[in-house]
Amino acid sequence: MKELEDRIRNEGTVKAGNVLKVDAFLNHQCDVTLFDHMGAEWARLFAGKRIDKILTIEASGIGIACCAARHFGNVPVVFAKKAQSINLDGEQYMTTVYSFTKRQEFPIIVSKRFLSPGEHVLLIDDFLANGKAMHGLLDLCAAAGVTVEGIGIAVEKGFQGGGDELRARGYAVESLAIVKSMDARTGNIEFA
Ligand code: 5GP
Repeated sequence: MKELEDRIRNEGTVKAGNVLKVDAFLNHQCDVTLFDHMGAEWARLFAGKRIDKILTIEASGIGIACCAARHFGNVPVVFAKKAQSINLDGEQYMTTVYSFTKRQEFPIIVSKRFLSPGEHVLLIDDFLANGKAMHGLLDLCAAAGVTVEGIGIAVEKGFQGGGDELRARGYAVESLAIVKSMDARTGNIEFA
């Protein structure tokens, strides 16, 4: 998606440790017009699939998933929570995920009330790197007995392999921008 690639090229910064910072429009300040265009693009890419619900992970997935839901007939958006809270009651699906950016394990939790066997789900997230966050969401989907119709990603760092591994397992992964390489020293970003 050229619009997203242009924004990454113009406003993204490459940090040491293979981290791409896009907080001017995606991870801190949110450009909802861009999010809306991203949602429209996922709707085009996943046209014809039955999508009953969108599942994402807090925090940065929520905004893009909500904008995307408007293009999928206003389906509900469920986000996996990253911490236990007194607001999380009843039975839950839970697994753990290793965070690429925080470099630690954390739980991800969805209440059983919001994922039901037989539902068809689209997974959405802001970044796909090694695929740990997606594997966590897929574990929750398997436990819930839902069908994963596809995986929509804003920015895939193609050189980290998570996307290729998921595609090899048969998942329909649609990434709106795939970074082929990036250089923290020069700031150069190449897209696939
Ligand atoms: P993975 O689990 O695929 O290794 O990493 C994906 C998760 O880590 C995403 O949910 C995202 O929050 C975070 N992440 C991974 N790489 C980057 C990056 O380069 N920049 C930002 N902003 N987040 C990243």
